[in-house]
Amino acid sequence: MVIYTPSCKQLGDPGFLIMQKVTGAATAVAEGRGKKRQEIITEQRKRPPHNIMNNKPTTFALIDCNNFFVSCERVFRPDLEGKPVVVLSSNDGCVVARSNEAKALRIPMGAPAFQWRPFFKTNGVVQFSANFELYGDLSRRITSILTRITPRTEVYSIDESFLDISTLDIADYTAWGGAVRQQVLQSVGVPVSIGVAPTKTLAKLGADYAKKKPDYGGVLDLASIPPAEREGHLANVPIEDVWGVGRRLAPRLKAEGIHTALGLSRMQPRWARQLIGLGGLQMVYELGGLSCHSLTPFHSPPKSIMRSRTFGEDTHDLPVLEAAIASLTARAAFEAYTSGVLAREAVLFITTSRHKPGYRAWNETVRFDLPTNDGGRLIRAMTDQLRAIYNPGQAYHRAGVTLYNLVSMASLQANLLDASHPAAHDASLGCMRAMEAINAKFGRGHLHYATEDLSRTWQPKQLLRSPRYVSRWDELPEAHTNNLA
Ligand SMILES: [Mg+2]
Repeated sequence: MVIYTPSCKQLGDPGFLIMQKVTGAATAVAEGRGKKRQEIITEQRKRPPHNIMNNKPTTFALIDCNNFFVSCERVFRPDLEGKPVVVLSSNDGCVVARSNEAKALRIPMGAPAFQWRPFFKTNGVVQFSANFELYGDLSRRITSILTRITPRTEVYSIDESFLDISTLDIADYTAWGGAVRQQVLQSVGVPVSIGVAPTKTLAKLGADYAKKKPDYGGVLDLASIPPAEREGHLANVPIEDVWGVGRRLAPRLKAEGIHTALGLSRMQPRWARQLIGLGGLQMVYELGGLSCHSLTPFHSPPKSIMRSRTFGEDTHDLPVLEAAIASLTARAAFEAYTSGVLAREAVLFITTSRHKPGYRAWNETVRFDLPTNDGGRLIRAMTDQLRAIYNPGQAYHRAGVTLYNLVSMASLQANLLDASHPAAHDASLGCMRAMEAINAKFGRGHLHYATEDLSRTWQPKQLLRSPRYVSRWDELPEAHTNNLA
């Protein structure tokens, strides 16, 4: 029996080697040889995992942006510092990000905006429609700073990155974390919290802890502190706040009397495995300082690419639907092109509103003999499907396009194009390359497909969106210098 997760499979990965040793121990016990399983595991836990590059213990840092969407809005609106701010989801439906002041007013995550508007008004809560173009751009700027610190960086989400800092020469992790915070704040303007620890789970817990307790100055080092002090921190972390537990597993663990991260770290590994499977076993080891989750530093190609939207208002009109499908397909195609993949299958889906009687949903799949990421070809295929299922009697509410069964452009060129359609493939590629170059120079959407212009009324409502300060020439912030001598 071999215990590993896909993320632990990399050859030479410290987490993988350790899990193999533990597994070896389990096999030995099963065969009636060697020490008792628990003795061996305890012995393993005493020895920290080592980085194969320099034989130093593996050390991770998690860099987590504080209230990321709100912090991005504040970069260009410093007047909002110290004021309650919320960011709303697509179509301004519900709250998806809150400043600390908004949290203090007990505005819950997911609060429906229409119900809370009177409260926002009386309490001076500033609202924004989500401005993902701005957030994505600032996120990329932060990532570029982090990859300059070390290339061993894993972008975990739009506002969180893990760094493997084992190979860096750092004497004091707290001072190092403070310097990184300062660098990100000064270069981008977004405050971050940093956790440093021998495992990813502990690093995440450290960053959360540092965020909630201002005394730590935004950095918590769980790598160099004595075990008793680390356990003191774990004792203060509720079980549902542990990475991977969440609301789904927390009730099951609480029913077993485990209420904190410390309780989970002391759980018998075999019991954890029985109760919550391999993931549970890994949580126990990770909280105890044994690394099971390695860094996945390279951007792995996507398995599928989806673009979907809820319309600004329900529609019966075919041209409006065609424009929506064309626009979503073009975005998915561009994502495929920039990720270096081609789709063998594309799925169109379209639905009426779930909140109205007679909810209906349609899915139509198209398969391509020659895999493609050509926006024009995909739009033609998807709009053909749309016209086949369109019924003017329906009020359509939401639509989307998913590209599946993706193959890398490199492998297609090597294996499949020898005999078939090289000219068609080259023409598609040339077209996508030209579009990307023109839009990179003149701005996103400068060159687009004609079908996208049939209508813009489908687009989600974003009545409170801030300008896209850093990605649109016509929305750049203005500085007036009239009063300068
Ligand atoms: Mg965050």
